[in-house]
Amino acid sequence: MSERDSEKHKARQQRLKAAVDAKVAEARTERGIVLVLTGNGKGKSTAGFGTVLRAVGHGLHCAVAQFIKGEWPCGERNVLERLGVPFHVMKTGFTWDTQDREGDTRAAEAVWAEVAKDLANPAIDLVLLDELTYMLSLHYLEVDVVVEAIQKRPPHQHVVITGRNCHRRLVELADTVSEIAPVKHAFDAGIKAQQGLDW
Ligand code: ATP
Ligand code: MG
Repeated sequence: MSERDSEKHKARQQRLKAAVDAKVAEARTERGIVLVLTGNGKGKSTAGFGTVLRAVGHGLHCAVAQFIKGEWPCGERNVLERLGVPFHVMKTGFTWDTQDREGDTRAAEAVWAEVAKDLANPAIDLVLLDELTYMLSLHYLEVDVVVEAIQKRPPHQHVVITGRNCHRRLVELADTVSEIAPVKHAFDAGIKAQQGLDW
C-alpha cells in the first residue's frame, strides 16, 4: 500500500469510527427487548440457548419453554437445569404427525400457562420461547393472548422467540429480528442429525 493509500485508509477508518461512536453514544435506553430468531437455516435454537447461557453467566434468572420437543433429549437442558433454569416442555405425546388436535392444543396451553407466569414475574430476567412460532401457525395458541402477555411483561425482561415462519404480529412486536438463511445443510447430503451438534 502506498503512503497516500495508507493515509486515505486511515482517514476513512477514522470517519467510520466517529460515526460508530456517535451511534453508540446515542443508544442510551436500557430495557427488556424481544428478540426473534427465525428463517429456514440452522442455528435458531442454538442462538436462543446461547443467549440464555450468556444471561446465566451474568447471574440473570432465566426460564425456558420448548414448544415441540416433547420427550426428545436436549443437551442444553441437561446443563441449564443443573444451573437452576426451569424448563417447561410440551409432553402429552406431541408429534408432528399427530392427529390429536385437541390433545396438542391442551399440551400447548399447559406450557403457555407456565410461560404466562414467567412473563408476569419480575424476578425472571429472560424467557426463551423455543419453537413458539409453530404454536401460532398451527393455531394451538391465540396470537392475541401471546402478544398481550409479552407486551405486559416487566419492563426489564427479555424475551427470545425461535422458530420458522414467525407470525407478522410477533415480528412487529419484536425489537430485534434475525432471519437465518440456509446456504447449505448437511442433512441434504444424507448426513443424519447428530447428538451434540443438532440436539
Ligand atoms: P438448531 O437447533 O440446530 O439451532 P434450528 O433451531 O435453527 O436448529 P429447527 O428448525 O428448530 O432449526 O430444526 C431443528 C432440527 O432440524 C435441528 O436438528 C437442525 O439441525 C435441523 N435443521 C435446521 N435447519 C435445517 C435445514 N435447513 N435442513 C435440514 N435440517 C435442518
Ligand atoms: Mg429450533
